Amino acid sequence: MGKQGKLILFSGPSGVGKDTLLDILITKRAEFQKSISITTREQRIGEIDGVDYFFITPDEFETMIECGEVLEFAKYGKNLYGTPKKPVDKWLSEGKTVILKIEVQGAAKIKKMYPNAVAMFIMPPSLEVLEQRLRQRGTENEEDLMRRLSIARTEIERSQDYDYIIVNDSLEAAADEALKILSM
Ligand code: 5GP
Repeated sequence: MGKQGKLILFSGPSGVGKDTLLDILITKRAEFQKSISITTREQRIGEIDGVDYFFITPDEFETMIECGEVLEFAKYGKNLYGTPKKPVDKWLSEGKTVILKIEVQGAAKIKKMYPNAVAMFIMPPSLEVLEQRLRQRGTENEEDLMRRLSIARTEIERSQDYDYIIVNDSLEAAADEALKILSM
């Protein structure tokens, strides 16, 4: 039997730059494998089904949970997000380093199931910068944006539960720091 892979949790408030950071990291090592989540959220312009997320209906989400196909799931804002179980198990058994993009409730659940998982929290330089970045991104309406900022405050309070906190001020520096942690 080969060596069991590592599980990496990647959390941080909406707009902090998690996806960009992940996209950079994923190119750095062949053993890095990004998990693709399922979500009931509406697909944003530019997002690709099966690449960014599997966009599914609430009924489909429910069925997957009932069939035991979801490793963890959580409600974020008005939508459900979850990690498909089968691919994660397969990658771990192949010795891959599996990276989950996950909000704080899901991360806490995974930490209980996999105590060896390494949890990283990506922190914005400030809430003001976060709001600016979210507004520049322009993917949410005002109501959703305010909801995301309010969730961000509670997420930041829970960042102390994480193994590592990385401030995403400069993208390159943050990617270097994350890579150093992943190489340990
Ligand atoms: P967004 O709508 O901005 O893509 O994602 C909203 C939040 O859901 C982010 O904090 C993101 O990390 C989180 N998220 C994405 N996929 C999953 C997942 O599979 N499980 C959980 N618990 N959260 C997720």
